[in-house]
Amino acid sequence: MQSRLHSIQLRIENACLAAGRPTSEVRLLPVSKTFSHEQVEQAIALGLTRFGENRVQDLRDRYAHFKEQDLQWVMIGHAQTNKAKEIARYASELQSLDRLALAESLQARLSIEKRVLPVFIQVKTAREDTKFGLAPEQLMEFLTQLRSFDTLQPVGLMTMATQTKDQAEIRRCFALLRQLRDQARDAGFERIRRLSMGMSGDFELAIAEGATDIRVGSALFGDRDYDQPR
Ligand SMILES: *Cc1c(COP(=O)(O)O)cnc(C)c1O
Repeated sequence: MQSRLHSIQLRIENACLAAGRPTSEVRLLPVSKTFSHEQVEQAIALGLTRFGENRVQDLRDRYAHFKEQDLQWVMIGHAQTNKAKEIARYASELQSLDRLALAESLQARLSIEKRVLPVFIQVKTAREDTKFGLAPEQLMEFLTQLRSFDTLQPVGLMTMATQTKDQAEIRRCFALLRQLRDQARDAGFERIRRLSMGMSGDFELAIAEGATDIRVGSALFGDRDYDQPR
């Protein structure tokens, strides 16, 4: 895993160099979903302390399993409204806020927990209808509505690109997210700064388009086996 982490770091450095951006602008979020606790231990031994999970149940299990260590668990997947309590308790950040109903449930639960949660708004930039996220044209209204939720701290936008080998199409998704971020800032949503986009196979393209947070699973942990019991 050490050599895989090293090659990810090199890829980040090269992509930043090519884009004329400082490496410090790009934060790596290791995505531990589907990998074993032992593999997460290995990553912790390499100094990693934040991990992304895409199911609330898994986030909660990780939290419980690694309770004695100072780690952060980031929710990156679609969350059902009835899971707001677990998110409010166990997530350090939510990168997949995609609807008002979830914001409302989180507001109620976070108030009870007396916590403020940094959130990314997930926007659908892909041309498939399988992906979650707000439609781009709904973003401004959603940001306005979020202003009344004092426990949610919007920090940026998140997207998943179209699943394709077509680099131009992937890049279009990332460029669209950047444009939306810029529009939001111009419209007075100054705290919307971060762009969570790019995964193992495409994060160089995302960095070229301004990614500040890349979500990397298989390039770090190895191939994912969805059938493996955890
Ligand atoms: C699984 C997942 C990733 C990481 O994917 P890899 O291709 O393994 O790097 C990133 N983001 C989300 C939302 C995911 O569900």
